[in-house]
Amino acid sequence: PPAIRKISEDHDKVFVTGCLEPDTSQPRANAAFVVLARNKELDGVIQSVKSIERHFNRWYHYPYVFLNDGEFNSTFKETIMNYTSSPVEFGQIDPKMWGFPDWIDPKVAKEGIAKQGDAAIMYGGMESYHAMCRFYSGFFYKHELLQKYEWYWRLEPEIKYFCDITYDPFLKMIETNKTYGFTIAVKELKETVPNIWRYASAYKRVNNLTSQGLWEMFVEPQEEKKVEEEDKHPLPEEILRGDPSHASIPEIDPEAMEGEKYNMCHFWSNFEIAKLSWFRSQAYEDFFQMMDRSGGFWMERWGDAPIHSLAAGALLAPRDIHYFRDFGYRHTTIQHCPANAPARQMPRHPFLEKTTLDLKARKEEDEYWETWDAVKENGVGCRCK
Ligand code: GDP
Ligand code: MN
Repeated sequence: PPAIRKISEDHDKVFVTGCLEPDTSQPRANAAFVVLARNKELDGVIQSVKSIERHFNRWYHYPYVFLNDGEFNSTFKETIMNYTSSPVEFGQIDPKMWGFPDWIDPKVAKEGIAKQGDAAIMYGGMESYHAMCRFYSGFFYKHELLQKYEWYWRLEPEIKYFCDITYDPFLKMIETNKTYGFTIAVKELKETVPNIWRYASAYKRVNNLTSQGLWEMFVEPQEEKKVEEEDKHPLPEEILRGDPSHASIPEIDPEAMEGEKYNMCHFWSNFEIAKLSWFRSQAYEDFFQMMDRSGGFWMERWGDAPIHSLAAGALLAPRDIHYFRDFGYRHTTIQHCPANAPARQMPRHPFLEKTTLDLKARKEEDEYWETWDAVKENGVGCRCK
């Protein structure tokens, strides 16, 4: 999206370029990897841990915090410990941070979720997915195991890093006074967030926040704007039912909305490196509360990615954001491959140009990287292989 260019050209530079040995001489940041997972995802989690250990953490030894709404079994815990020498903590999530809040009628919410399932909205019919999105939007940073940390790096099952990361991104974020880092920005599925923009812009307006330049990243450009009846999503009645704070949300003034429509762009939050104090700030809490009280985490399927992104849009400036475009990263079907990565060293394969990959392409690509890893087994080499 155009605003990524805006971030990268105007305000943001690659932290470290060229080949280098990992510099581990400085003290570590107060930071941890955060992994939310279920026991059944063990294989995917191992893949992710192996990858981040191989490409970064074997030099830096940052600790891990694993979180689960259920209880991690001993197989999960023992297996994970075999793949890292870093400190690892396993935590269970308090039911207060997971599932329906007490001010929502569970029957209404369940009906809303079932409807989204019927409408074939991606993950819309899965109550646990809604709970997960809400947890990552408003609670993970309040978990007791994260209290001691100032920074986190989010890790998900089934991700892969392609390049060695031979500098400490936390220290660079601190040094350059950054708040939030991403590596992929994509467009959200419209049907998952029909009303998210109305509430996010209401938050901005109610709090008299003027854009610091990042909000524009999420605004549909004028020329692409189509005023179509189907695009005007009336606030569903259910959303407002049992919502004590709705009265504080002003009616949307159509004039004020003019030229402001969500372009669906968001930072893909399965990778994030960010400062926890931002999430813990009063401003972010107010934002979360307003979004939460709308019921949109249940009656729609708001993801934590657009929530984090729109909060950043309302509260941060482009200079606060870092685009980790030097990180080769893949999460299931979407990837970001730094342009300089494999091209110089190995024949370039068509799948390296792709941003979305089917199963076959992923398998081919894995084999390609395996070969390359084997060749480079013993050396650190360039940051990007
Ligand atoms: P996707 O990346 O949007 O396809 O969603 P995922 O299934 O990967 O879920 C996002 C993250 O939340 C992953 O780290 C999952 O392991 C985690 N997650 C999703 N649902 C649950 C759940 O019900 N319980 C737990 N403990 N973790 C979950
Ligand atoms: Mn995932």
